[in-house]
Amino acid sequence: MKVLIADEVDSLATSKLRAAGFEVTEDFDITPDELKVAIKDYDVLVVRSRTKVTKTIIEAGIKLKLIGRVGVGLDNIDAKAAEEAKIKVVNTPQMSTVAVAELVMAMMLCLVRSVHLANESIKKGLWEKKRFIGSELNGKVLGVVGFGRIGRAVAERAKAFNMSILVYDVVVDEATLKRLNAERAATVEEVVMRSDIVTIHVPLMPETTHMFDSKLISSFKRGACLINASRGEVVDTKALTDALKSGKLAGAALDVLEHEPPVEPQELDLVRMPNVIVTPHIGAQTREAQVVGAIAIAENIINAFRTL
Ligand code: NAD
Repeated sequence: MKVLIADEVDSLATSKLRAAGFEVTEDFDITPDELKVAIKDYDVLVVRSRTKVTKTIIEAGIKLKLIGRVGVGLDNIDAKAAEEAKIKVVNTPQMSTVAVAELVMAMMLCLVRSVHLANESIKKGLWEKKRFIGSELNGKVLGVVGFGRIGRAVAERAKAFNMSILVYDVVVDEATLKRLNAERAATVEEVVMRSDIVTIHVPLMPETTHMFDSKLISSFKRGACLINASRGEVVDTKALTDALKSGKLAGAALDVLEHEPPVEPQELDLVRMPNVIVTPHIGAQTREAQVVGAIAIAENIINAFRTL
C-alpha cells in the first residue's frame, strides 16, 4: 500500500507505517496542482489542515481507499465526494485537546492582563506601569460555545481560576456540566449576553458558518472579550472588527482567521488592532500533540486496512 503524507506530520507516523509494511512518501509542500497529478498512484492520503482534499483530488485518486486527517476538523475534506467514491476518512480527534485548551488559557490571560502589549512597551524602552491595569479572571463568567473535547478542557482549566462556566451546545454532556458546576444556557444569545469572555469551540459546518454575525455580536455584554480557536469562518470578520472599533468588545484573541494567512484588507485591519491577539493557527502546535497525532494516524490507518 502506498501512502502520501502531504502535510507536515511527525516522522513517527512514517516510521510506524513503514514498520507495518506501507510504502510512504513525504511531500509536505506539495501544491494542489502537483497533488492532482501525484494522487493517482496512492492508496492513502494523509493531510493536516493545509491541504484541501477537494472533489477534484478525490476523483483523481483512482486507487485512493483512505484519507487520514491528522487533527480534528474535517472541513478541509469533501466528505460527500469521499463517501461517494467509497473512500474511508479517519482522523485523530483527541490529539489537540490539551494543546488548544492551554493556548486558550494563555489568550484569556493575555486579554485581561495585556501581557503582549506590556512586553512590547518595555522592549521599546518604556516603563508604563500605570497603563497596564488589567482585570482578573477570578469570579468572571466564561461562556463556552461548543462543549465538546476542547470546550470541556477549557472549562476545566477556567474552573481552576474560579470562573463561572456558562455553556451552549446542541448536545450537552450533563455529567461534565455537573462535575464542573457549569450552567447550561438555552441559547447562544444567552451565553453572549451574560459572559465576560466567550470562547468558541464548535466545528465548522453550514450551521456554524458566520454563527457569530453582527446580530449575535451586538448582543454581547459591552466590554466583553471573544476568543476563537475553532475555525475562522465561524466569526464574521467585518462584524467583529466593527465591534472592536466601537468598543462593544474590549478585545479578541484569534488563533484562526477566515483566510490563513490573512489577505483581505478587512482582515489585515483586524489583526493589526492593538486589542486583538492573533496567532497563526498554532492551537495543535505542541511537541506533545504532534507526537500523539502521528502515532494515532498511523494506528488508525493500520487498523482501517484490517477492516477494509
Ligand atoms: P468536538 O466534536 O469534541 O466538539 C464540538 C462540539 O460542538 C460538540 O459538542 C458539538 O455538539 C458542538 N456543536 C456542533 N454544532 C454546534 C452548534 N451549531 N451550536 C453549538 N454547539 C455545536 O470537537 P473538539 O475536539 O472540541 O474541536 C472543536 C473544534 O476546534 C474543531 O472542530 C476544530 O474546528 C477546532 N480545532 C482547532 C484547532 C486549532 O489549531 N486552533 C485544533 C483542533 C481543533
